[in-house]
Amino acid sequence: MTKGRKYSKEWENTYPRLSYSVEEDAAYCAYCLVFGDGHGDGMFGMIGFRDWKNASSDKRGSLKIHENSKLHSAAKEKADNFIMVSNESKPDICSSLSKAYANKEVRNRQILLAIKDVIVSLKQRNIALRGNWDKELKRKTSQCPHYLSPKVQNELIYCCEIEIREKIVNDCKLADVYSVCADDTTDVSVKEQLSLCIRFVDRIKSEVREEFMGFVELTKTDAENID
Ligand SMILES: [Zn+2]
Repeated sequence: MTKGRKYSKEWENTYPRLSYSVEEDAAYCAYCLVFGDGHGDGMFGMIGFRDWKNASSDKRGSLKIHENSKLHSAAKEKADNFIMVSNESKPDICSSLSKAYANKEVRNRQILLAIKDVIVSLKQRNIALRGNWDKELKRKTSQCPHYLSPKVQNELIYCCEIEIREKIVNDCKLADVYSVCADDTTDVSVKEQLSLCIRFVDRIKSEVREEFMGFVELTKTDAENID
């Protein structure tokens, strides 16, 4: 006990989180003891406060100074959050992160679908993916992945190709007969390529369809290799 003073139970009326340890003859702040960072104002957190003489003066009282300190406010905020999560009046961090992740997933999917639509529209009109078509998308998606690198664009084109080809093949399977049209040609890089088309009657649309299926690079142009 310091200079005849002792802990006063009345202090708890003003500072309800103050607790007294009889065994240690020391006062602790419940907020700082449980939610403090273990450093800083350790007198009320880890060490225990015993300076009774300077505890409660109006201007320089340690209790008041501690109550207004940043460390106490931070610990109090953590404690309040913990109580709100325990009462289920506030979502826990896992739910918050999960919701944030779900929102991000929805946004990224929207971006991806917008880019897919642009790519399909350009390809339908035989327009190359170059120029300024992606500038606006880049501006709008500057804070998140914009999926506009050549690698991603090529992957998207490849995905579209697989989807479209599968749809054509499924339509063709419904026809009783079909024919394959093939012709070889040399491209500008002097590579021999075989262009492949299929021709069939679309039973649903009741019309003859001729669909381009793609190019196949040829290493040799003899009949055996083309087969
Ligand atoms: Zn405190």
